[in-house]
Amino acid sequence: MFEAAFAAAGIDAVMIPIGVPHDSLELVIGALRAMRALGASVTLPHKLAAAGLCDELSPSAREIGAANCLRVEGGRLFGHNTDCHGFTDALSAAGFAPEDKRCVILGAGGAARAVAYGLRAADAASIDVIARRPQRVAWTAARPWTPVELRGSFARADLLVDATPMGLHEGDAAAAEAVPLEELRPGAWVATLVYHRTTGLIERAKQRGHATVDGRGMLLHQGARAFALWTGTAPPIQAMQRALDAALDGT
Ligand code: NAP
Repeated sequence: MFEAAFAAAGIDAVMIPIGVPHDSLELVIGALRAMRALGASVTLPHKLAAAGLCDELSPSAREIGAANCLRVEGGRLFGHNTDCHGFTDALSAAGFAPEDKRCVILGAGGAARAVAYGLRAADAASIDVIARRPQRVAWTAARPWTPVELRGSFARADLLVDATPMGLHEGDAAAAEAVPLEELRPGAWVATLVYHRTTGLIERAKQRGHATVDGRGMLLHQGARAFALWTGTAPPIQAMQRALDAALDGT
């Protein structure tokens, strides 16, 4: 996706995937500064630790406590979080405007926190976060994952976001069945962050006539925002989308 973007924009740069063991993160990030790299995309499990190694954090990275995008400028390292606005960009591109909407997020991990930040920044009316271990969630007052909570929150919702890894693997149907979609109003939207396959929850939502959004748009738009931060150039979205689709669909 990024190589397609650099080519389309005529920028002489490459994206190099680097697997980084936990105890080497500081070394690798130091090398980025020394090499005067444009920056880096950071993925699990390094987003939290990367934020701690930056010289400066954007407001979103500071509040979310995680950086998924690093930018090097003049030897200084700037940490950004493009997941949050990438998610709302994807919703907008699909035709859903979060402003004044009541939102429910399932799960309370790093991705849920970024999604909640993005929805709040986009002026959502309310955001209910439902977690199976709410007492362990420090960043928000999460509600417990009980049938009563799920049903009550769903009945009010304009948007349901599955921010759990439930749909990551084949055979997630049992987990998806435990989510009471029948309580959602007909016009409510259902989103997942999973991007490499459809999920049981999304399939059930489609069958019930809900508009749905998968995680591919979030992946695309967080990358587009990263590209703009690194290069100061408008991201060539269509070229990025084509490359992403080809990579994920194996075409
Ligand atoms: P995480 O930090 O591990 O958090 C996962 C959350 O889901 C936790 O609250 C966890 O609860 C909960 N959970 C896990 N299994 C569950 C289950 N069976 N039932 C109910 N709750 C469950 O992971 P994350 O970084 O937030 O990532 C979540 C998902 O988002 C992953 O699928 C990831 O691939 C995706 N993601 C996509 C993008 C994109 O660009 N599209 C970007 C970031 C992340 P406990 O704490 O109780 O375990």
